[in-house]
Amino acid sequence: MVYSVHNEYFDMKFIKTSILFIVIVLCSSSSVLQLGIQPKIITQIFFPDPDIEIPTPGFSKKKGYTSITELLSFLKNKSIENPNQLSISFIGKSQGGIEIPAIRLVGKNPVKNPIRVWLQGGLHGNEMGSVEGLLFLIHELLNNSDLLDEFEMMIIPVANPDGYKKENRYAKNGMDLNRDHTIISAPETKYLKSTFNLFDPELALDFHEYRPFRRDFVNFGNFGVTSMYDVMFLHTSNPNVPKKLRELIEDSFITPCQADLDKQGYTHHNYFSTEKHLGTIRIREGSISARSSSTSYALSNCVSSLIEIRGVGLGRTSFKRRVACVKEVGMSFLKSAVQSKHNMRKVLVHLTDTNRRVVYSSSYLTENRIMNFIDLEEKSVQGFEFEVRDLSEQRNIKTRSFPLAYLLTKELIPLIKPKFDVLGIKYKLVSSETLDPNRIYSYNITKYLQDGIPEFRVRRQRVTSELRLLEKEQPFELLYVPTSQVRGAHLFELFEPEATSSYVAFDVIHTGLNKKLKYYRYHAY
Ligand SMILES: [Zn+2]
Repeated sequence: MVYSVHNEYFDMKFIKTSILFIVIVLCSSSSVLQLGIQPKIITQIFFPDPDIEIPTPGFSKKKGYTSITELLSFLKNKSIENPNQLSISFIGKSQGGIEIPAIRLVGKNPVKNPIRVWLQGGLHGNEMGSVEGLLFLIHELLNNSDLLDEFEMMIIPVANPDGYKKENRYAKNGMDLNRDHTIISAPETKYLKSTFNLFDPELALDFHEYRPFRRDFVNFGNFGVTSMYDVMFLHTSNPNVPKKLRELIEDSFITPCQADLDKQGYTHHNYFSTEKHLGTIRIREGSISARSSSTSYALSNCVSSLIEIRGVGLGRTSFKRRVACVKEVGMSFLKSAVQSKHNMRKVLVHLTDTNRRVVYSSSYLTENRIMNFIDLEEKSVQGFEFEVRDLSEQRNIKTRSFPLAYLLTKELIPLIKPKFDVLGIKYKLVSSETLDPNRIYSYNITKYLQDGIPEFRVRRQRVTSELRLLEKEQPFELLYVPTSQVRGAHLFELFEPEATSSYVAFDVIHTGLNKKLKYYRYHAY
């Protein structure tokens, strides 16, 4: 008995010590902070869940997210209930061997020549709301048959299934799939872009989530700040995307969507991210990179935006709100597409304007601005001054004439032709004899610098080039790639060597100082 009492006493002491230990660990990890964990009061004040039922698999469980098996069975049920409207196919296997599903969605009584729409989510595997949001949108569209009748849709709900399975941003080989739209090195990118080009959408939306608590944000206010926007629009400012298309995206899609979000009480802003430079934090707003979906799809002659929902690192916090935002944005863009159908098709048809010039280099507006954040101590929106580099205001634009075609010599063909096939770029093999020799110009590299540190195994080449008339040679075979074609705008980003996403910049085509590139421009005169 005595022995047993002593034992109980020992147990109590052990339990007390253990509890104290656990409390200390919890306290210190929550003061290590809020990186990811959102104080409840902030959720209550700024990001309460809407009072709606969302009948997708993720909301029938308390923990975790919709698994790929649950996602497929949800969609299979939808296809059984709506056999003529929803069908599931697979576009290829991820690096980890998971089939990537594609959902085709059409109306019961489709209109003639419906608007072709591409929707994708889960390209970054840790942006769970984007996947769940597309399931919710599919559900809503099936219940909204008048609207659905206007469309033919291709939906890729989980573009990076390996990442999604692990709640990890990257593909299995560590690659960021939203930086692979030009080089196309991951199999997932190849399947996505080939399917995209076959389907040939007029409107494309790529849903993502962004991280509202960033390490740098602890330096603002007394207790740190967090991003305040439910939705950020990342639409392209790339100057090689025709101006009329950029204006159409902004005026006929983004602006009405902002008004729709206002009505629902959701906050929004143009996309920005923070970056640390020489110890200070500055803001980068907008995007022009052809390596990312938003610009790549716009260069493919398509109304396009990437949508960032406030979500990464929040776990299940505000999950309903995030998923509802995906649905609201999707619905808004679809309604705008119906409303501006006529004008949209006029803009998309008249893209090839050979009078315009090709932009090979540009910079951006830099100015100090007050940016609003939620101050975690004050629990209110506060303005903070930042240096903002605004990519949506392109400056110092440097241009060259609009070439009739780019001409690739034989040695580049095996390297580049497969990328053209994926991007939907047309070409033909010709002999140089069939071309006017006085209109073929070569690029001579006059300045050359290669990065010392590789970024995803690539050491970037930064070059300046000069055009010179090609010296006469014996007849030779060339790949003739006309710029006046549906996906032609890609070519300026890929082949003007100074362009930030070009094949020269990313060392796909290696060069050096005073060297000539192995491809040419074919000028109109
Ligand atoms: Zn993302």
